[in-house]
Amino acid sequence: MPETYAPKRKDYPLSNLNDGLRLVRVRCAYCKRQHCYYPDDLIRIFGDVDVDSLSWRMKCENDPAHGHPIVEAFAPTGKEAVGLRIRRLKALKIRTVPEWKEDPP
Ligand SMILES: [Zn+2]
Repeated sequence: MPETYAPKRKDYPLSNLNDGLRLVRVRCAYCKRQHCYYPDDLIRIFGDVDVDSLSWRMKCENDPAHGHPIVEAFAPTGKEAVGLRIRRLKALKIRTVPEWKEDPP
């Protein structure tokens, strides 16, 4: 989905991580819920945005009141990579949100 917001600083776009070795870890500091993603899957959702900007684009899935998660790019080391579960994008559902206006205004 194309992103209308253009970040002023595009220091580290997600596509930079697309060497197949690096992943993105998203962790809630509050409940410690954590998921690892392939950069490609995140690009499909957010566009090729700055990695740091993902924090404010995402929310804890346990409870949105937990606020924004900690987002970091990482390359799993040998030990870390064993049994590492990576969350894959299964489907991207488009929700239709009606927006109304009064006529005449
Ligand atoms: Zn949480």
